[in-house]
Amino acid sequence: MIREISAKTLLTRMKSPASWFGVTYNMNIYRGCQHGCIYCDSRSQCYGIENFEDVLVKVNSIALLKKELSGKRKVATIGTGSMSDPYTPVEKHLNFTGRALEVIENYGFPAHIVTKSDLILRDAELIRSISRVFASVAFTLTTADDSLAAIIEPGAPRPSARLDALRQLADAGVYTGILMMPVLPYIEDTKENIEAVVRQSHSSGASFIIPWLGMSLRDRQREYYFSKLDLHFPGLRRKYEKEYSSLYSCAVKSAGELYSFFGKLCEDRGMTCDMKNVRKYNGNGGGDCFQPSLFHG
Ligand code: SF4
Repeated sequence: MIREISAKTLLTRMKSPASWFGVTYNMNIYRGCQHGCIYCDSRSQCYGIENFEDVLVKVNSIALLKKELSGKRKVATIGTGSMSDPYTPVEKHLNFTGRALEVIENYGFPAHIVTKSDLILRDAELIRSISRVFASVAFTLTTADDSLAAIIEPGAPRPSARLDALRQLADAGVYTGILMMPVLPYIEDTKENIEAVVRQSHSSGASFIIPWLGMSLRDRQREYYFSKLDLHFPGLRRKYEKEYSSLYSCAVKSAGELYSFFGKLCEDRGMTCDMKNVRKYNGNGGGDCFQPSLFHG
């Protein structure tokens, strides 16, 4: 179900831009997401979204964005994609994200977009144009296995489609990379999965890959996730309960060894895997800290 709502404000100021792609102002045009990832943290009680599969669209978001950007003295990165996917399927018809990018481009602001959808290709030209100031795009990829993704991210485009979209944006000169997060304990925490994600990201032209080898679990979202484990991975719930009890931040077992393994794979390929080295808007019409990937192909 799609519902229209009116928001009071759109942009939220971030406390620590350097820790997340230089994002200074974050925007969520949608609340709720049709991608239906079984692990999605946005289902948590604290966000107050009752039916997460319903999408609430802030119908006045374009007017708000214009108003708020015209009042900003300093140009800084606008981010989107933290609480819901800006390219959730309904965006195809509504085009709110596309129109917001037009506004960002008109006002000469940099942008950072996180998505799991190849629908972003519709806006490739616009993003390329924003890149003249600065733009970065991160695709979330928790596995390179299309059939596993169909279970854990049932409404999102396949990982292979995301990688193909990444390739097209990278070829168009857009700074692109991967968020490998979360990595689900006992499901995705294998060397084979990590290697496949790094290898395929690299061969698709990703310049960076930022990992989190673990997941978050809390209140309502934990219950939802466990119900999906019961359905698709019988018996696994018990392992989680034993290992993590009521923990919020749940690191995979052997995280240290897997981080070293992952780091070496990235180093061998010249891929940035540390947020402090990711290219960000530097205030002078470009990015800094750029370590180009030497071995794309
Ligand atoms: S794409 Fe992101 S916001 Fe949407 S369901 Fe998946 S994790 Fe949640």
